[in-house]
Amino acid sequence: MADRAFIFCPFCRNMGNPRSELQRDNVDFFCLMGHRAPHAQVLSMAPEMIKSEVIFKPGPHDMKVEVWCNSEVYARAKAALGERFHPTLASLIRCCMAGEPIVIDGQQAEKLRKLGIRSGQEMVVVAEQNVTLAGENESLVQQVNQWEKRFERATVDG
Ligand SMILES: [Zn+2]
Repeated sequence: MADRAFIFCPFCRNMGNPRSELQRDNVDFFCLMGHRAPHAQVLSMAPEMIKSEVIFKPGPHDMKVEVWCNSEVYARAKAALGERFHPTLASLIRCCMAGEPIVIDGQQAEKLRKLGIRSGQEMVVVAEQNVTLAGENESLVQQVNQWEKRFERATVDG
């Protein structure tokens, strides 16, 4: 019994045919061109992965909804997201219903990425650190002010 391996045959690739799919059994990978080799040997040849296409299927409680949308934007989104179009929009709608969402547009997201922030979780961590640092900063400023007052008194009295 053979299963799809989700990798292309590296032997075929080396012979100029990069799109020959491998199958697998418990011991070997093999292709329709007659190549056969143990798993470790094939994997050591850095074979190219086949991205498994995710085909969207609506869930049992899903319903089709109508949304008004700019036709150009819609066409671009369909092209860019492909099979992820429906799940992406569905998760955005779900996101809108979970508390009060914060919407971040492409430019802001780009700035965040440049700062090394890639998720909402990381944004929360950075914001919390900022609050902590601001508090520490304020307490340091207060200490400096107190020392300045003491110093002034000391110089005036002296
Ligand atoms: Zn092959």
